[in-house]
Amino acid sequence: MRIVREVDAAPDLDTALNIIVHRTREVMATDVCTVYFTDHEQRQHVFAATDGLSLDLVGHIKAGFGRGLIGQVADSSRPVNLAEVPEELDQEFLSQSGSDRYHGFLGVPVLHKRRVQGVLLVRQRTARRFDDADEAFLTTLAAHLGSAIAFARANGEMCTLCRAGTGRQRCFTGLPGAPGIGIGKGIVLFAADLQAVPDRVPEDPATEEHRLREAVSSVREEITRIAGSLEKSLSPADRALFDAYVFMLDSPEIVDAVVQRIHAGNWAPGALRQTVESHAQRFDLMDDRYLRERATDIRELGTRILLRLQDASTSLASCPPDSILIGRQISAIDIGSVPPGHLHGIISTEGSTLSHAAIVAHAIGVPAVVGVTDLPIAVLDGQELVVDGNNGQIHLWPDPTLQRAFAARVEEERQLSESLSVLRDLPARTPDGVEFSLYTNTSLAVDLSLATASDSAGIGLFRSELPFMLYDRFPTEQEQVSLYRQALKAVAPRPVNLRTLDAGGDKPLPYLRLAEPNPALGSRGIRLTLDHPDIFLTQLRAALRANIGLGNLRLLLPMISDVDDLEQALGVLNRAEQQLDEEGYAITHPEVGIMVEVPSAIYQLDRLVRHVDFLSVGTNDLAQYLLATDRNNPRVSMRLDHCHPALLHALQQIAQTSKDAEKPVTVCGEMANDPGCALLLLGMGFDGLSLSASALPRVKWAIRGIPAMHMRAMAERALQLERPELVHQLLEQTLQDTRLESRPDLSHR
Ligand code: PEP
Ligand code: MG
Repeated sequence: MRIVREVDAAPDLDTALNIIVHRTREVMATDVCTVYFTDHEQRQHVFAATDGLSLDLVGHIKAGFGRGLIGQVADSSRPVNLAEVPEELDQEFLSQSGSDRYHGFLGVPVLHKRRVQGVLLVRQRTARRFDDADEAFLTTLAAHLGSAIAFARANGEMCTLCRAGTGRQRCFTGLPGAPGIGIGKGIVLFAADLQAVPDRVPEDPATEEHRLREAVSSVREEITRIAGSLEKSLSPADRALFDAYVFMLDSPEIVDAVVQRIHAGNWAPGALRQTVESHAQRFDLMDDRYLRERATDIRELGTRILLRLQDASTSLASCPPDSILIGRQISAIDIGSVPPGHLHGIISTEGSTLSHAAIVAHAIGVPAVVGVTDLPIAVLDGQELVVDGNNGQIHLWPDPTLQRAFAARVEEERQLSESLSVLRDLPARTPDGVEFSLYTNTSLAVDLSLATASDSAGIGLFRSELPFMLYDRFPTEQEQVSLYRQALKAVAPRPVNLRTLDAGGDKPLPYLRLAEPNPALGSRGIRLTLDHPDIFLTQLRAALRANIGLGNLRLLLPMISDVDDLEQALGVLNRAEQQLDEEGYAITHPEVGIMVEVPSAIYQLDRLVRHVDFLSVGTNDLAQYLLATDRNNPRVSMRLDHCHPALLHALQQIAQTSKDAEKPVTVCGEMANDPGCALLLLGMGFDGLSLSASALPRVKWAIRGIPAMHMRAMAERALQLERPELVHQLLEQTLQDTRLESRPDLSHR
């Protein structure tokens, strides 16, 4: 809809609202169109914009929650369509506005994330029954506007506050990514995302101008070169596109405008973003489809220039010591690039609790909040922030009281970790003498050092795909040998469960782009490696070679769905072993296990388990597939609850099947990081857990506080419950009853 495009292109909230009311009134041929904003704090809806009524009413008419027509629309979360409004229902509006009566009324709620953001309504002087098409139009518009208003509201207010230089404390809610509190200053990562580029005051405008001109001329050269090399294969129409690009680069409108903005006080990337957006928006608003497409060209060109500018401007290696990384997505590589100790927090607008960035953050003990969909990241650069990874909240410009409160909590956490460190040399043994194995999950050198330093029983999950992501091509066999040997040596003689490449899905390799409509259900994990036996064979050969003389390698196969998958994978392993034998390497056959994370594996587990030495349950994917809930989608991730009864029953079945087959089984999903869930899993019969090094001390402390027979009783009770919240309550209650909310009990050693 054109109206939605216009709103998206609006520079601020007021403009956006005015567009909404004018265009809706025009399209629906009504007498009045009004938007109310919901003020949740004051529990009222405030008249925010109108076309058809006096503008003096803006901000003055207020409809209390649950009262009158507006209250009815907001409360019912449904359209209210009345040909003839009963006078008493509109009394509040009539008395506050002093207006004459309107008879026809159609109002729809504007919702965002299930929360009412406001009400969009139209009124008619005469009686009018708005028809189904009117209702559908207004509802469609409101659905689009929900997020636009939420974002514009945040963005608009924030920009004004940033310009004024004095921030009023703000709180944004996302999802808990990794626990802990981090206090520091925002560093926005914008990669090739022009819209995310922050404004910054340039140190030297002349240098910025120079950088810009260099970048533009390098893009011009690139485009001319590409056009030249494609000359024969391009039609005249396609060639014209390249000419148009060069024309735009040469036109003073763009380059001069960026230069002007640089000299007005913005650095080159920020000035580029402002200029490109203002040009592109003009095209966005055009009715002609061809002309509208030109907005895409301008943005594409802007992105290319940005990439050139960026080479010189972002180096995470020089991040200040209190950095909070902010971006649409923060990759594990970004996290690993910040010097140890300099990273105080991570914020991303995409992703969810089980995204890999969150998992890596957890592994290295850095608080993270993910999926903060409404966060206008571009304005957060250099701003004071608190990342509350426990509650999934971000506090912007915390006032001194809040800062002190959070600083006290950081200190408490530090003291708790210190007191837990005395558990290091003690076993994960219950008071009634049952001992469990606690392994650590790892993937990168940063968390490898933590895993080794901690008192874990070994590495229960080495995510081998993350080092693969560091390269711009597949690592060679020799490169992989060094990588795996480093990990094997670091924990020897304790075992390392090296999981074979689990790329694909939300862990794409930059050099192996698979355009799949539904990557989580596509070619990932073992499916990908079986389709590329060369890659798989190289990895297995490298792992076997790295293990020579150490003998602590165990191979773990991800995403096994059935016996065929497993037999084929074992066939490739067999080939790798034969080859290496023939080449004279003194290799030994490692133990092999599978990840139980695809629901079909549960129902064939009695068969699968016969072919392997151990099992490891990936609850992250198991929950995703069992509950049909994308682990990376913040819109639905609140449904991804590890205490969901369906998941608990599946886990119980896995534990029982492994026990019957007398094969060890551990859990390596994020669920194991939570002390309550950890007790539940051990109570169900799992032999051990593999978790983040940073979560291990707390889980060990919980194990040492509760007898194994109580864990079993708790698991039995949990399996009777029919809702996740009830299971959470039970876990909390159990921890409280055993006084685990207090300091660690070190009495029984
Ligand atoms: C899992 O799925 O639970 C798991 C441990 O693997 P990953 O999170 O790497 O997919
Ligand atoms: Mg998995």
